[in-house]
Amino acid sequence: MENIIILGTGCAGFTAGIYTARANLNPLILEGRQPGGQLTTTSEVENFPGFPQGVDGYSLMDQLRKQATRFGARVENSFIDKVELGVDKKVLFSGDKKFEAKAIIIATGAAPRLLGVPGEKEMYGGKGVTTCATCDGAFYRNMDVIVVGGGDSACEEALFLTRFCSKVTLVHRRDELRASQIMAERTLSHEKIEIIWDSAIEEILPDEEGKTRAVTISNLKTNNQEEIPCKGVFIAIGHIPNTQPFENLLPLDSNGYLIPENGSQVQTAIPGVYVAGDCADHVYRQAITAAGMGCQAAIDAERWLAENK
Ligand code: NAP
Repeated sequence: MENIIILGTGCAGFTAGIYTARANLNPLILEGRQPGGQLTTTSEVENFPGFPQGVDGYSLMDQLRKQATRFGARVENSFIDKVELGVDKKVLFSGDKKFEAKAIIIATGAAPRLLGVPGEKEMYGGKGVTTCATCDGAFYRNMDVIVVGGGDSACEEALFLTRFCSKVTLVHRRDELRASQIMAERTLSHEKIEIIWDSAIEEILPDEEGKTRAVTISNLKTNNQEEIPCKGVFIAIGHIPNTQPFENLLPLDSNGYLIPENGSQVQTAIPGVYVAGDCADHVYRQAITAAGMGCQAAIDAERWLAENK
């Protein structure tokens, strides 16, 4: 049986890995479907303390991984789909594979929300529909693209895409951006970005090869419909926490976020089970706050393990 298993390799998971490894707990970190977590899909991180010139998300996560493994944390790729949580033993299942640990830290993060419109699934990943400008932006050099959403992510994606694309059209369902002032100002003033307000994507339309050729949008105030030609649709409308395996075992809020207990940010009702990062934080959702929660969870787990040998 492992001392401690950490689920997730984002900022929360790797920070928990650094702390538990340095505490000689020989942690096992399980990597899910997004190695390195959401930050690996971010172009420029300007607000992580210690990087006055900013740092790209992929490099930051690579550094955290090296830091955790340097102290002995082991990383294994296994997506956990079922768990059993007892006080003495936590059992994690990944298909036919089984892991057992005295303590676990759930740092499973969140996954991008999708629109659920016709054409989205069919053209997702390689045929024009994506949730990651950093990963896919360069494929759309000199092409027209759409970004959907009005938050910081949508603005960041739109601004990043201006480096490659001939025109970026931001489609937002309201008449004002939700994004922080600095991101909103940069987006509103960029000459390559056009914003279509009060509008929703109705359908993503394929060409004869099954790749994206246009979207149909409808104005939510006037009901007018319009077809906009584009080669790429970047969806940036928020996230859904990756907490499905814990649904009937730990308290979740109405949006699926884990709810910590005992007046703590990271403890749960089950001794030896801790939460950290975006799977349990719908308020701050920052790399630095996730890292902070990873640290808290690791210290609490270390103390609990010491008291419950
Ligand atoms: P968000 O702030 O929740 O924004 C989601 C956006 O998508 C909102 O504008 C929302 O519209 C829209 N939306 C939601 N569901 C939709 C649907 N079904 N159809 C159409 N539009 C929909 O999410 P986020 O932008 O991913 O940001 C999440 C957190 O990370 C925030 O705290 C943000 O500040 C932070 N973040 C920071 C940075 C940075 O500082 N560089 C970068 C990225 C993210 P409404 O406005 O109408 O609700």
